[in-house]
Amino acid sequence: MKNLLITLMATLLTCLSTTGIAQSKKKNQKKDIATVAIDSAKWRADHYIENRDSAYADPRVGLKKLMGGNRRFIEGKSIRPRQDSLALHSTEGGQKPYAIIVGCSDSRVPNEIIFDQGVGDLFIVRTAGQVMAQASYGSIEFATLVLGSKLIVVLGHQKCGAVDAAVKRPDNPPGHIVTLINAIKPAAEKSKYMAGDRLDNAIRQNVIEQVNELRDLEPVLAKKYQNGETLIVGAVYNLHSGKVEFLPETLMNLPEKRK
Ligand SMILES: [Zn+2]
Repeated sequence: MKNLLITLMATLLTCLSTTGIAQSKKKNQKKDIATVAIDSAKWRADHYIENRDSAYADPRVGLKKLMGGNRRFIEGKSIRPRQDSLALHSTEGGQKPYAIIVGCSDSRVPNEIIFDQGVGDLFIVRTAGQVMAQASYGSIEFATLVLGSKLIVVLGHQKCGAVDAAVKRPDNPPGHIVTLINAIKPAAEKSKYMAGDRLDNAIRQNVIEQVNELRDLEPVLAKKYQNGETLIVGAVYNLHSGKVEFLPETLMNLPEKRK
């Protein structure tokens, strides 16, 4: 009886340890596959990965990183980076966002999702029609001077209600909505004389004017833009395709960083 009991226990222990080894082997195998896949040059190329630190140090790399993230989004290859507890803890003590997005409040333009970025990546200023005033300027200057962000993207979007209102000019808009309309009015006026869709043209023109507004903004941004330290560009998000189109007009003749 005693011998039988010992044999049974021994068998049970062997079984347990074998299962344990098998499980840990399986786990390691899984880990190896994941590590190889994610770290491989091919995987990085397939997912348009740009280094996070390089993007923070160089706004041109930052721009490529945003473009790559948007490509992943529209191709259904989003990797949702830096969205776990590790990212929370690593940014708890401070932030180094590599890009500032000046965008519209529209709920259909969730910045981290459409650029496939994560916690601590984007410093975002959002108002309807991305209309800017003193508080927006201060926020952008804070991110530039204190947080060290070197890339600013003004992000408009198709079918923007604020721009549409500035085009249609309803009588007696309620409350403070008139502030938005007045700010977008110059772009809406210019779009009258352009070929093509009036609203699409007004949306693009509004972004171009806001990019220029920031490039000329004294006393911080104008100088940083001119000496090539801060890159300021404009883009329009397509609600149908999910694509962010960076406007060529805002990518030309950019000042080079002085050595
Ligand atoms: Zn909008």
